[in-house]
Amino acid sequence: MRLVRWLNKNNYYFVSETDVIEYYYNGKRIPSGAVWLTLDDGWKENLFNVIPIVNQYKIPITIFIPTGIVENDGIYWWSLLQKSRDVLQIPYSEVFKIPEKERRKLVEKVRFSSNRQLLRQAVTKDDIYNLSQYKWISFGAHTVLHPLLPNCTEDELNYEIIHSCETLAQWTKRPVNSFAYPMGKVDTRAIEVLKNLGVKVAVTTEMRPASITDDPFLLPRVSVYDGITNAEGIANVVGVWPRVIKMIKRI
Ligand SMILES: [Zn+2]
Repeated sequence: MRLVRWLNKNNYYFVSETDVIEYYYNGKRIPSGAVWLTLDDGWKENLFNVIPIVNQYKIPITIFIPTGIVENDGIYWWSLLQKSRDVLQIPYSEVFKIPEKERRKLVEKVRFSSNRQLLRQAVTKDDIYNLSQYKWISFGAHTVLHPLLPNCTEDELNYEIIHSCETLAQWTKRPVNSFAYPMGKVDTRAIEVLKNLGVKVAVTTEMRPASITDDPFLLPRVSVYDGITNAEGIANVVGVWPRVIKMIKRI
C-alpha cells in the first residue's frame, strides 16, 4: 500500500481510534501530521494489500465492518446489483433512493434470479477475530447489511446500528467505539442511537481533513484510491492536519 509507506516515510504520525477519542473528549493535543487510517467494508483483499504493511510497521488502523454481510455470503449487495444491471427493473442509481425494505427485496430477487457466481468479497468472522488480536488493529461497526440509513424506518435503523455494534463486540471481545455511516449517509436519528449506545466517534465520507472543531459524530475523511482496485477498496484517512491533503494530491 503505497500511501501507508509514503506517510510512514514522510513523518506523518499515525494515530489510533483511542487517540482520536482522547482528542475529542479529553482535550489531548493533536500532534502535527496526525493521520487516522480507516478502511470500510472489510474487503478480503485488504488482508493482502494493507494488513501486511500495517503489521510490519505496527500502524494503528480501524476497519469498519458490516456484520450481516460478513456473516452471510460475504458479497456486497451494490456490487451484485452493479453486475446485474440487465435484470434490474430500475436504473442502478435509483437503488440508493428507495426505502430499505424495497432495496432488500430487490437484492434478494437479483440474488435468486441471476446466475452470476460472485466469489466472497468480504473477510470472514474468523479473519476479524484473528485481526483483533493485534493491538494496533481496531474494528468499528458499519451496520448489518450496509443500507443507506436515511432510507431506513426507525426499527430498521435501530436494528442496523445496535445489532452490528453488539455482534462486532462479541466477535472481537472488545467494546465498539466507532462507526462509519454506509456511503457516508447519516441523519440525526442515527447519531442519537450511536450516542445512546456509547459509541464515541463516527465517520462520514465528506472529503476533507478533520479538525478539532468537528462534531465527533460527523468526522470527515480523505478517501484514497489504492491503485486500480475497486472504488470501494479504498483507504480513508482522517487527516487531522490539513497538509495531508497536499500530500494526497502529490501521490
Ligand atoms: Zn461501506
